[in-house]
Amino acid sequence: GGMLDQISFSGGKFTRNRTVVHAVNNVSLDIRQGETLSVVGESGCGKSTLARVVIGLYPPTSGEIHYADQRVDNLQGNARRPFRTKAQMVFQDPYASLNPRMRVRQILEEPVRFHKPELSDDAVRAKIAEVMQQVGINPEWAERYPHEFSGGQRQRISIARALVLDPEFIVADEPISALDVSIQAQVLNLMMDLQEQRKLTYLFISHDLSVVEHISDRVAVLYLGSLCELASAKEMFSRPQHPYTKALLSAIPRIGKGFQHIKLSGDVPTPIRLPSGCVFHGRCPHAASRCRHEVPKARTLESGTVVACHGVEEGRI
Ligand code: SF4
Ligand code: MG
Repeated sequence: GGMLDQISFSGGKFTRNRTVVHAVNNVSLDIRQGETLSVVGESGCGKSTLARVVIGLYPPTSGEIHYADQRVDNLQGNARRPFRTKAQMVFQDPYASLNPRMRVRQILEEPVRFHKPELSDDAVRAKIAEVMQQVGINPEWAERYPHEFSGGQRQRISIARALVLDPEFIVADEPISALDVSIQAQVLNLMMDLQEQRKLTYLFISHDLSVVEHISDRVAVLYLGSLCELASAKEMFSRPQHPYTKALLSAIPRIGKGFQHIKLSGDVPTPIRLPSGCVFHGRCPHAASRCRHEVPKARTLESGTVVACHGVEEGRI
């Protein structure tokens, strides 16, 4: 298939239960081939929704998703298949995402049978053994059930399932946060090794900024579905621009060392009724009257950092 150049996303409101949830409001992202783009923000910021919209699990009610120059969010049925093989998702919870009544072999076989019915039984078996090996699970365990594995092993099996169609692009929604701390690094390192070996592109959803600093090429910060800042990991972690980014970083003991500690006050407002103007204004220590009325536009600074903030634009932050 054609090589992935970039994935772009602009969205979108999402209608669920007839309530319009502004899960990702003005977010526009280009994901570059071979990179890890991380999306961070507190829970409720829309990052999981963003992941599901990008992968096609939820339709955007506005906005578009382009994959390697092709619009994919409006494709139906068979036309969607190429994208559905090239883009795969790894979920947070390896307990919930693997069917307990299926053997590992069946779990891994299902997508291959569906998307590549032309493959022989031998080829399918070989593919399953290959991906099990690659994620560090003994292929001889293929007839076992998920409950016979540890949490870390189950997440390896989830990753194997994502790899079995030889994807180019993987969306990982908090892939290690449900795991014991002692095995998080192993699974993360596995994902990084696989990225190297398979030239994968990652969209990595996380709330853990020390992980994000470690693995990302670029980082996008979301607040209530709005993009606050998008920057290289190096810029983000050395010179954060947006007040919300600064607050997030200052709360991390190790990373926050160089930053003035900023305590956020107030609750995160509900995404059903978004605040006017800058969605962060109710919690921002730099909010001015303009911030309450006018939505800040995303602007690119000389450093390449994209930031949406009136205060930064006005040079007062
Ligand atoms: Fe704070 Fe205003 Fe910037 Fe929003 S636009 S982050 S309220 S200074
Ligand atoms: Mg989530």
